[in-house]
Amino acid sequence: MERAHVFDAVAARWTDGEGLSEAPRPATREELLRVHTAEHVDAIARTSGRAVMLDPDTFTSPESAEIAALAAGAAVQAVDHAIDRKDAAFALVRPPGHHAERDRAMGFCLFNNIAVAAAHAQSRGLARVAVVDVDVHHGNGTQWIFYDNPRVLYVSTHQYPFYPGTGAANEVGTGEGRGFTFNVPLEMGATDADYALVYREAVIPVLHEFAPDVVLVSAGFDAHERDPLASMRVTTEGYAWVVRQLVDASTNGSIAFVTEGGYDLGALSDCLDAAIAEASGTASRLGGSASRSTEPSSTARAARALDTVRAAQKGFWHNL
Ligand SMILES: [Zn+2]
Repeated sequence: MERAHVFDAVAARWTDGEGLSEAPRPATREELLRVHTAEHVDAIARTSGRAVMLDPDTFTSPESAEIAALAAGAAVQAVDHAIDRKDAAFALVRPPGHHAERDRAMGFCLFNNIAVAAAHAQSRGLARVAVVDVDVHHGNGTQWIFYDNPRVLYVSTHQYPFYPGTGAANEVGTGEGRGFTFNVPLEMGATDADYALVYREAVIPVLHEFAPDVVLVSAGFDAHERDPLASMRVTTEGYAWVVRQLVDASTNGSIAFVTEGGYDLGALSDCLDAAIAEASGTASRLGGSASRSTEPSSTARAARALDTVRAAQKGFWHNL
């Protein structure tokens, strides 16, 4: 429950500053079936009122089915808001979603919230939807759901090798979808400077070339230096910088953030406040640096990542 308290406090600070907030509604069966099998949707529904182990990391409590439907529904509401107002929106949800595959729960995730949101944007007639996954883990579920789809660009920066094992640079999509899965695997220990380099040199140029009608962000903050599960060294300022680049890359202003991981509660809270400030234009922008870290900013990990990404993707993207 503790992550829910962080979300409540972040939302309260936003509404105290006269920001808009909206109560979530559950995703409809039709919305879930755009990305999940009927068997999976039914299996989650059957856990209602029960505690069940769905995979070694993924357990339900009696309320999980209801909360998972609300999380996916909130992601749909956020993307509607982003599209209708050409503005930023945040869905502060748990459980996370990006490991959930078409037909199974995995890695704490029941429904793939960001995929449900992306499919909803497509159902509204948007031609090009970009999903940028800044969570430290690779979003295997999101990747596989859209693997053959050239109208949904999936971009992920993540620790590699690491859970869940997918996300190599040469996983680029299949069929018509080739080039529209864009993985940037980073070695453990990557810093703000590494992230800044791969965003400047690869992620942002590719987003510009794709020219999305809406940008969706799988907003995991577990690449933070204080996160207990992963081994990256991104600071709160580093995350804020990444968010600013993504907001700037959403050329028409439509951008929706859907929370994923983030297991140091203080870091999660700080990063969400900073991300909301950047996206709403209320951040005080001090200097142009990605980081105020005093560490020497080696970008060796980023340079190695860029080599593998360019080798895998340069046939698909002129801007690389
Ligand atoms: Zn994660």
